[in-house]
This record gives sequence, structure tokens and C-alpha cells, in this order.
Amino acid sequence: MKGGPGLLFVVSGPSGAGKDTLVDAVRARMPRLRYSVSATTRDPRSGEVDGEHYFFLTKEEFERRRDAGDFLEWRVYNDRLYGTPRDYVERTLAEGYDVVMKPEVNGALAVQAAYPAAVLIFLVPDRFSYLRDRLLTRRTETNEEIARRLEIAHEEMKYIRKFDYIVVNEQHRAEEAVEDLEAVLHAERFRIHRYGDEQLRKVERT
Ligand code: 5GP
Repeated sequence: MKGGPGLLFVVSGPSGAGKDTLVDAVRARMPRLRYSVSATTRDPRSGEVDGEHYFFLTKEEFERRRDAGDFLEWRVYNDRLYGTPRDYVERTLAEGYDVVMKPEVNGALAVQAAYPAAVLIFLVPDRFSYLRDRLLTRRTETNEEIARRLEIAHEEMKYIRKFDYIVVNEQHRAEEAVEDLEAVLHAERFRIHRYGDEQLRKVERT
């Protein structure tokens, strides 16, 4: 009983919680899941590819697109701009594909305001201190940036109750978190309110 528009999954949570790794792993297991590539004005990290990890834009270009209404939501994070291109999300959902994205917490809530049907998943580490460890291990930010990201993370944790699901990414057990996330994505498809009246009548008649 499939059909109709796709579902929008928003995986959020503080920087260092493992959003990138988990979402990549789930995408590899669910080939029909489409990923919404965000735009940003931050510099690419080594290995990051334009159009795949982000659309890397100048501040001027980002602002031009933002003012033209091209973003579903946008945010300043750590003095850089990040935004979700609207067109891709709307088109892909309309084509019937499920879409996953991974904005920071305020962005996730803004998506929910724009799309109340969006499913919000909060990804957390089992201990807050692990965020710092992970940010230190991946060595993509300076110490000041890490400190700033942890400050933001502290604020972000306050919004957990506004989300639909929590997935705990336990230290050294990322595989379980991937399975939990996949379970949420699967289960959501079967909620009664996702079915149209016509489909439900058909079930009733069987
Ligand atoms: P990073 O610089 O580590 O790639 O991302 C920094 C933060 O920005 C992360 O928490 C990430 O989830 C968030 N982010 C990435 N893309 C978007 C987006 O399109 N919108 C918003 N609001 N946040 C984003």
C-alpha cells in the first residue's frame, strides 16, 4: 500500500552526535531514500565535494538565493550560513520519494513549522562529553570552533522534547544506532494517518 507523496525525515541533534555517519549508513541501506544537500557559506573540509556534501556558496550568492525564497529554512550557525534548498525537497517528495536531511536543531524546528508532517529525529550521544571527544578526533575544527560548537550543542539539547523520536548513538555502538534510525524510518511509513481514506476503506473491505 504505497503511493502518494514521500515522507520527510529530519535528523538533527548537536554537532558531533554522529549525524553524518548515521545518515550515510542509512542511505546505503535504503536506496530509495533521497538526501537533501544543503547550501553553506563555510569552506569545504578536505574530501568534501560541491553538490554532494554541500553546495558551497559565497555569502553574496547565498543571500541572493535566500532573498529570492529559494530556501525552505536557513540559519546562521557558528557565523556561517546554512540552508535547505526548497525546490529539491518539494520536487522529490512530490515524486513519491522519501527525503532525509540533517540540519541543526533550529533548522529542524523551522522545517517542522513549514511541513508539519515532517518526522523529527533527535540524535544524541550517550554522554554529552563524547561530543567533545568526537569533535576532537575528527580534527576538522580549531579548538575555538570546537568550544563554540559545544556551547551551541548545550543550547540545542534543550529542544529535545519538541522532536518525535530520539536515537541514542552509543559510543562504539554506531551499528545499533543505524538500526534504530532505520527502524524509525520504516515504522513511520505504516502509521494509520499516512494512509488515505480510500486505501483504508479497501483494507476494511478485505
Ligand atoms: P558542519 O559545518 O559541521 O557541516 O555543520 C554545522 C551544523 O549545521 C550541523 O549541526 C549541521 O547539521 C547544520 N546544517 C547543515 N546543513 C544545514 C541546513 O541546511 N540548515 C540548517 N539549519 N543547518 C544545517
